[in-house]
Formats: sequence, structure tokens, C-alpha cells
Amino acid sequence: MIDITNLHTGLYIGGAWHDARSTFATVNPTTGQHLADLSSADGDDVDAAVAAATDAFRGDWGALAPSRKGALLHRLADLVEADTERLAALESLDMGRPVGMGAALMIPNLVAGLRYYAGWADKINGELITTDGYMGSPVPTHAYTRRDPIGVVGAIVPWNAPLMILGWKLAPALAAGNTVIIKPAEDASLSILRLAELVDEAGFPPGTINVLPGIGRVAGEALSLHPGVKKISFTGSTETGRAILRNSAANFTRTALELGGKAPQIIFDDADLDAAVQGCAMGMFFNQGEVCAAGTRVIAHRKVYDAILDGLKGAAEAQVIGDPFDPATTMGPLVNARQHERVVSYLSTGIDEGAEVISGGSVPESPGYFVEPTVLAGRNDMVVAREEIFGPVGVVIPFDTDDEAISLANDNQYGLSATVWTSDVSRAHTVSAKIEAGAVGVNGWSPLAPQLPWGGVKASGIGRELGYEGILAYTESKTVTVVL
Ligand code: NAD
Repeated sequence: MIDITNLHTGLYIGGAWHDARSTFATVNPTTGQHLADLSSADGDDVDAAVAAATDAFRGDWGALAPSRKGALLHRLADLVEADTERLAALESLDMGRPVGMGAALMIPNLVAGLRYYAGWADKINGELITTDGYMGSPVPTHAYTRRDPIGVVGAIVPWNAPLMILGWKLAPALAAGNTVIIKPAEDASLSILRLAELVDEAGFPPGTINVLPGIGRVAGEALSLHPGVKKISFTGSTETGRAILRNSAANFTRTALELGGKAPQIIFDDADLDAAVQGCAMGMFFNQGEVCAAGTRVIAHRKVYDAILDGLKGAAEAQVIGDPFDPATTMGPLVNARQHERVVSYLSTGIDEGAEVISGGSVPESPGYFVEPTVLAGRNDMVVAREEIFGPVGVVIPFDTDDEAISLANDNQYGLSATVWTSDVSRAHTVSAKIEAGAVGVNGWSPLAPQLPWGGVKASGIGRELGYEGILAYTESKTVTVVL
């Protein structure tokens, strides 16, 4: 466990801590007991944060040389790296993930992202464009594009990987010269509040980065409706994504949405089955299955279907459910009572619609929000195979031909990521090209690396984060034409 008594729990605006007019309570998902009372930002607080972020954008942050911006990102990366254990522990306390996972993967992902984009800060260029001449005449032009920052960016993040997902927004937004207002999720604000303390220590100009804990329908909505916010970058549910898109229409606010998923994992009969089973089990159970890219539809060739069911059963039974701070634990509790009820209700829906429970399917006797890792044998048209469950539940579906596998994979509203398991290199590329998803992994989950663009098609969202595309997404292009 970790002591949180000295952690700031207020609003971080303009480089200083403020108390909000009200607070909201959070719960420890391992025990179901009260955890903390946090400041709850309202519309006035959002106004104050937008004013501070606008001042910084027009003032000290905007005036800072690009390489100095990069140096500050490096400084923040160093501070985050040195604080890895604490940040990972805060996330585990808030949302239940085994602490070692956060320390090994999520916090290092934030560090890597800060360093990757630190390097981009002084390498954002437009291009020189050749024209036929000016307006049909032979008079030559000197035409070029600039890549300017957009302005104040609102980053609204979920609870499943708070710092990692925030890093995909914060690092490129800052490197491109924007200022940022962060709205953490109600259920997991602690690690982001600690990050604000590190931002303060790093010495960013006041107002460059602001943090507003609060309620989505209040603080998040005020941020997405604010005319001073020039871009909203959101990760979370499809329903909230739709609401944000509607709200951002009021001011034509640029909007990037990273929403849910129901990732297919196609296993061909020529695949390395041990690797496929291990990979698919990780895809289902990692982070308690609370992952937008969770590989929860395993589409297995009929020849290997029984072997895959057996393998996944073994992998599910090998999971150790328990306290996220116990080093033996591989799966902690779900984030809150609502998510627990939701996942449990999907388990009964699956059984009612005829899915066969291969492993799990029950709720352990315990005060926290635990659910057994569950493998179901079913069909692609079942509710449990169509909707995002956001818990450790996967459905295994058989297929006979490559075309059938592709059509099953694409027969879903989501299109975030997919995995193809095969030893045939030609099939790997052919199938990857036909899958409707923003990212495809072959013989492994699509990695979440700062260099690799990430985002969805269909109901999985709009826009790409990470990589070079990730930084362009935080710039406006302006064309300048000089008539010579
Ligand atoms: P959510 O969409 O309600 O919350 C995500 C963030 O949006 C939070 O910071 C929340 O406070 C904020 N928010 C909520 N309503 C808002 C509004 N009207 N305007 C602006 N901001 C608002 O997601 P949730 O309740 O935390 O989770 C529900 C479901 O979302 C999950 O069961 C899962 O299906 C999905 N989810 C997906 C991801 C992902 O990475 N794709 C992450 C978390 C949750």
C-alpha cells in the first residue's frame, strides 16, 4: 500500500493549487472502502484554467524556444522515471491493476512518450510548395506551409491507464507548442495529481499544464463546450465520445476520439499455437480486461478450435486474482461497483444466449470488485461477442476459411485493433490489409509504442495518436503564398 495523505487533491491551475467549491469521494476497488476526497472542478474552474492556459500559450510557453520546450519534456520524463514505483502504486490503489504491470509497462510508456516527443519539439516543419505561377499567370510564387500550434488543448482521459493514455496527448501537444488542461477520470485521478506535482517541480511556465479533477458531466462537458479550448482529445466510452463530438460542434473545436474496441484475434491452423494461446490470454486478461484494445474475440480455425479452448482454459485458471499490491497477483479487481455489475450482467447474458462457459464465469467471494477470468465458446452474433465488456471475458468463435475469418473479424461496430496468428507471411499481409482496424499485430498484440500511430476506425474513434501523425494532430497547417 501507499500513503496518500500528503498528495495534493486540489485543482492545479496556473502553476498553483486551488480548492474547488465541492469535492467528490473515490473508492478503493480492492476493498470497496472510501479512498479519497478530491476537488471537483466546476464551470468557473474551467474558465480559470482556460484563462491560465491561454495566457501561457500567448506568453511564456509560447515564447519559449522549441528546443527549450523539448528540454522541459526531458526533465519531466526524468522526474516521472524516478517516481515510477509511486506513480504505479497510485494507479493500482485507484483502479486495481497489479502494481508490477504499471511499473513495468504503463509508467515507462509515459516516460518513452515524453522523450520521443521531446525530440520532435524542434523538428516540426512545413514544406515548400511548387506552383504553376500566380492565378494563371507566369508570375512565380514562393509558397510554403507552416505548422503552428492549435492553442489550448483539453485532454479528457479514462481510468484504465490514466498516465499512459494521458502521455499520448500531453507529450505531442506540448512538443507542438500547445498548452493543456487535463480532466482525469473520476475513478483514477491520483497518479495525474502526482504528475502535476512533478510538472511543478520540472519548472514549466505556469498555466502550460493544468489539472482539473472532477465529474465528466460537469468539468469534462464545460471543457468540451468552452470556446477558448481549441482541441479536445478524448479517450473513453463511445457514448461519451458522441456527446463530446456534439458539444465540440458549437465552436468547431478540433476533436480526436479514441473509443472502445472488440478486437478480433484470428488464429489460423498454421500458427504457433502456444504463442497464440499466450498472446490471446494476455489480450483477454491483461489489466483485468479493462483495455480498449483487449483481444476479446478469438476467431480460431476449426482444426485448432478445441486446442485453443483447452489452452485458454489453462491460461485463465493460471491467473492469480487478488490484491494488486501482492506480487503474486496477475489480475486485480475491476475499477468500481458499476463496472463490476456491468461485467457480471454480461456473464449472465452470455449464458442466457447459449455461450458455453469454458472457464470462470463467477464472482469470487470477496469485498472488492473481482470477477473470474472467463472464456466462453460462442458465436459472433452473441451480445457478448458484439459489445465491449471491458472486463476479463473473451469469446472463442470457430471458422473454416480465410474469407470467413476476415468477415467475422470485420462484422462488428468497432475497429480499433486486431491480431493475426499465422506462420504464412503472405497470408499475414493479405489478411492484415483486409481487416477494418487502426492497427493490426501479426503474431503479437499491436504494441503501444510512441513511434507507432494508434487509433480506430468505425465506432472506435476519429484520428490517430502517437508517431509523427500524433504530432501533426496538434498543429494547424497554414499556407503562405508570396507573389514574386
Ligand atoms: P467515460 O467515457 O464515461 O469517461 C471517460 C472520461 O470522460 C472521464 O474523464 C469522464 O469524466 C469524462 N466524461 C464523462 N462524461 C463526459 C461528458 N459528457 N463530457 C466530457 N467528458 C466526460 O468512460 P467510463 O465511464 O470511465 O467507462 C465506461 C466505458 O467506457 C467502459 O466500460 C468502456 O467500455 C469504455 N472505456 C473505454 C476506454 C478506452 O480506452 N477506449 C477507456 C475507459 C473506458
